Amino acid sequence: MTDYPQKVSDSFNERLRLIRLRRKKENLHFWNEFRIIPRWLIVLVIVLFLAGQAIALFVNIDAVRHGGTVFPPDFQNDPALAFLASAGIVTGVSLVMATLIFMIAYVNRDASRRGMNSALWTILVILFLPTWGLIGLIIYLLMREPLPYNCPQCAATVGARFNFCPNCKCNLHPSCPQCKREVVETDKYCPYCAHELAATPSEPARNLS
Ligand SMILES: [Zn+2]
Ligand SMILES: [Zn+2]
Repeated sequence: MTDYPQKVSDSFNERLRLIRLRRKKENLHFWNEFRIIPRWLIVLVIVLFLAGQAIALFVNIDAVRHGGTVFPPDFQNDPALAFLASAGIVTGVSLVMATLIFMIAYVNRDASRRGMNSALWTILVILFLPTWGLIGLIIYLLMREPLPYNCPQCAATVGARFNFCPNCKCNLHPSCPQCKREVVETDKYCPYCAHELAATPSEPARNLS
């Protein structure tokens, strides 16, 4: 019972450390991120948008020819304005739908790229949509695992939770032997206490001066 708060704060610190690490190693750009959405889905959304416009146009042409009710009915006496208004409404609805579809696709692809349960996260985001809107997406963005990155020494792909590279034994979270604060693998001197870090941090024997 006594060590319970200790464990909670440990996992909380681990979470914060990973977020720091994530900011350092992940250099995300909107358009690069957009590229993980499958091409076929983007084509499908564009085709659906064009189909929606065509259907709205044909319904109105038909209504004007046969004297039916045009959409929207407020422009019954002005067919040109009705065409314009229906095109605008279709565009607006399509924009909202497309954003939601791309968002769900992004979560699905991004989760599997990060080694998370992509089906579960996709379902969660969709379930939250009708009642809580984008809360599911926000939870996902806060909870997602950091992306794997390349080992600074041998360029092998390493998980963000790894402490050592499984390929070359490189210490991925080296600390300064003098002040014990975390330093970057490529630092020559500790940025906090100026201790010389020339000896490879992955070999502790050489660190002892
Ligand atoms: Zn390595
Ligand atoms: Zn230091």
